[in-house]
Amino acid sequence: MHRRRCVWQGKTEPMRPPLLVLLAEPRGFCAGVEFAIQHVERALALYGAPVYVRHEIVHNQHVVGDLRRRGAVFVESLDEVPDDRPVVFSAHGVPRTVPEAAEARGLFYLDATCPLVGKVHREALRHYNAGRRILLIGHAGHPEVVGTMGQVPEGAMQLVQNVEEAEAIDPGPCDGLAYITQTTLSVDDAAAIIDVLKRRFPDIEGPHREDICFATTNRQQAVKALAACADRVLVLGAPNSSNTRRLAEVAGRQGTPAHRVAEAADIDWAVLGTPAKLGITAGASTPEHLVQAVVDACAERFEVTTAALRVADEGTGFRLPHVLRE
Ligand code: SF4
Repeated sequence: MHRRRCVWQGKTEPMRPPLLVLLAEPRGFCAGVEFAIQHVERALALYGAPVYVRHEIVHNQHVVGDLRRRGAVFVESLDEVPDDRPVVFSAHGVPRTVPEAAEARGLFYLDATCPLVGKVHREALRHYNAGRRILLIGHAGHPEVVGTMGQVPEGAMQLVQNVEEAEAIDPGPCDGLAYITQTTLSVDDAAAIIDVLKRRFPDIEGPHREDICFATTNRQQAVKALAACADRVLVLGAPNSSNTRRLAEVAGRQGTPAHRVAEAADIDWAVLGTPAKLGITAGASTPEHLVQAVVDACAERFEVTTAALRVADEGTGFRLPHVLRE
């Protein structure tokens, strides 16, 4: 370890090694996550606590914990929502049966589905109404996938999770075929799957680009840039956050060791070692204060210099529904 002279006591003390922290831009909260959180905050302000939220509003325990302290109650089923309280649907979107059930009960609900997920829902419906069988590229069990599949009757949409499934899938007899994608996929993985589908089904319809949203795309471009410059990359975000996990994968595929951690306390400093350059980014549902806490934790162990690595500007925000703007 480096040592330096401690002038006032005439002793030596460990000198912290230098570390350049490269912060990805953009990182962290996307417009859709802000939009969803604002739904809950405005509902609490307008209607008082408790406000019920179906599923985690976004996949981050810090965000959920903060809203819970302010009066939000997170549930997995509408059955847990009392008749006289508002309920918010999460950013990931819900199957059509959920708002239908809320309406049948006369519940007051607010749909915080990200507008970019809503766009995919409308694509699914358009293809279904045109008589096409739909292939959804996405990950089984993710709430966004559950919500998107639930836009059309059971059996009208099939899930394709990887290239192997794209090679094997049999859509059966149909008048037309279309594909749509989850918004938070790896851009490169989705492109490889789409290539297979287009080769096997040359007439398949799809969006002009895949449905992966601008926030996911920008964060993946930024983490690639980080991985190209840094010795190691830290990706902040929850283990159930799809876009966070993709960021760690994308960085790792560049050949740079990448570690996903939920917060500073999760960092294994022995594994991290003493890199000269550390790239830091955060998934779309990770609040910025967690990133700053990691920088502070680094500063306790290293002589830290920070620099931003910007690949895109994000000015987009989504307007809240009129009822929440009053
Ligand atoms: S990651 Fe994309 S699709 Fe998901 S909430 Fe953010 S902007 Fe919307």
